Amino acid sequence: MINRRQLFRFIRRMYYWAKTDPVDEDLRGWSWDRPPVKPRAYLGLGVYEVAGKYCPTRRDVWLRRKAGVRPKSSKTMLVGRLMHEAIDKATKSVLRGVVQGKKAWEIYEENQSIDPSLKGVDDELRQLYINIYKSTLITILGELEYEALTTNSSLQMPLFTEYRVDGSLIGLSSNLSVDALANGVILDYKFGEARDFHKLSIAGYALALESEYETPFDYGLIIYVSNRGQRIRISARPVYVSNSLRRWFLEERDNIIEILLSDEEPPVDNRCKESCPFYGVCHP
Ligand code: SF4
Repeated sequence: MINRRQLFRFIRRMYYWAKTDPVDEDLRGWSWDRPPVKPRAYLGLGVYEVAGKYCPTRRDVWLRRKAGVRPKSSKTMLVGRLMHEAIDKATKSVLRGVVQGKKAWEIYEENQSIDPSLKGVDDELRQLYINIYKSTLITILGELEYEALTTNSSLQMPLFTEYRVDGSLIGLSSNLSVDALANGVILDYKFGEARDFHKLSIAGYALALESEYETPFDYGLIIYVSNRGQRIRISARPVYVSNSLRRWFLEERDNIIEILLSDEEPPVDNRCKESCPFYGVCHP
């Protein structure tokens, strides 16, 4: 996890990017009643469907939505799910303690030991889950305690996790879940190799939040989590939700809608990786 001082440093950097390239009104989520934000059709798309450009021809979305094929679960997907669950669990444990008026050390003592019963998970992944859980718990509590001591106030929760947002006005799902929101910054956790299109998720959530709350959401952070043996490595990439990034997301959304409305089956790509959850369907 990153701490609040790092977060503020990132915000300052993104603020300068925003000053040189302010967002056009027409590209705000609250402009959902007219193009380019208004979609051609309302299909309740997930942000992951639009932003997850792992399949170059977008055949994966077609297979899932039109052919009813269920993706084969892979280790990468399992690790991603466990990582999200561990962060969410640690954050909610802290939130519960804060609401009950407990001190940071009390919250830590009560929640430091966990024994997750994770079905179908080997020892290595179980340990990874515990490491991410503990690292999140310690980071948030350290931050809260520092704030409380330096401002002479009680503990206050700086982070909302699994934040629900209704993206239906812009053709997305009515039940999107933002990994976390901290000081108005959208956080998206990723496990594994960094890809340029990961920043599309931040744009999708920003547009959805703007459409629901009519408030600007211009900043995001992609938090990359990896493990080296017993150590968790965290790196963060700041994302300013610029005009070009908004346009890119809207083009991808419109492209997916075209694919799903047409009767043409997207072709199999020639650069498929065996880790694709549809590999067995496309390459029988
Ligand atoms: S196997 Fe290839 S074509 Fe099929 S969904 Fe995966 S990436 Fe796309």
